[in-house]
Amino acid sequence: MENRLTVSVVVPVYNEESNLDELVSRCIAACDGMNQSYELILVDDGSRDDSPDMIKASAEKEGGKIVGVLLNRNYGQHAAVMAGFAHAEGRYIVTLDADLQNPPEEIPHVVSKMLEGYDVVGTVRQNRQDSFLRTLPSRMVNKVVQKSTGVLMHDYGCMLRGYTHEIVETMLQCRERSTFIPVLANTFAHKVTEIPVAHNERTDGDSKYSFWKLINLQFDLLTSITTFPLRVLSVIGGFISAFGIGLGLLILILRVIWGSEWAAQGVFTLFAILFVLVGAQFIGLGLLGEYIGRIYHDVRDRPRYFVRKVVGRDH
Ligand code: UDP
Ligand code: MG
Repeated sequence: MENRLTVSVVVPVYNEESNLDELVSRCIAACDGMNQSYELILVDDGSRDDSPDMIKASAEKEGGKIVGVLLNRNYGQHAAVMAGFAHAEGRYIVTLDADLQNPPEEIPHVVSKMLEGYDVVGTVRQNRQDSFLRTLPSRMVNKVVQKSTGVLMHDYGCMLRGYTHEIVETMLQCRERSTFIPVLANTFAHKVTEIPVAHNERTDGDSKYSFWKLINLQFDLLTSITTFPLRVLSVIGGFISAFGIGLGLLILILRVIWGSEWAAQGVFTLFAILFVLVGAQFIGLGLLGEYIGRIYHDVRDRPRYFVRKVVGRDH
């Protein structure tokens, strides 16, 4: 398939009115310097501020260079990026956050790596400028993902990344709804590399990830890469049951040796065992529920997003 353009830059935007102008001008400046045909796709993820209007305005102004994809409500960062992917026409697709934490000036570096023939170009944030509470979950996630996918990438949280059009096409074909794009991409990528990029403090506005959204994201990640917790659970369950049976037998034998007087006091031991087992069952049910919930979610096969309107495309 021939692509019309060389590079598509996809940016999810959620209540980023204070960053948008600078984002657009810096992206355009950086992309103009590349000497490649490009488009900047701004996906509005149901913002409640001025962002959609600003996107519309700049799409009209820059005609062709900037494409606005406006979702009708908030679907989350990864769904928004997927919506952008569906409209990307470039041979190489670069994702970027709208909050300018990753300087748009790094786009040409990612692109030049893509031109060397890599399927996926990841980035590692140098001196990451986020609070400790924001970096801790990411660090744990990186470890888990490294262990279970076998693909060695140091920084999964950083969204400044490059993908080939084929990889993006494949990701779009995935029917699952709980997606974590960098991990999903790596399950299809053949040649993967990483480059160091600068990371700045959020210049304006707050992180769009609340505590709960962050937890939800970790669950998305966990269930999208592995069903290992289920197996661990059965192993632990097996050990606990074996222990329970052993203890039961022991108590029975001691009861025979020392008589019923002693056994009455053992009632509490049995209670303790019961509590352990009930606890284990509940943990198990909880985790099963997590997976079943996601199966349910996928089986319903709802559209991942709903595009209200596409502006700025002149053909
Ligand atoms: N974002 C989005 N939808 C959401 C949450 C975030 O499109 O529901 C976008 C947001 O506008 C930004 C990017 O995703 O461009 C990353 O968000 P943020 O910087 O708040 O996350 P963090 O840097 O804390 O990971
Ligand atoms: Mg950010």
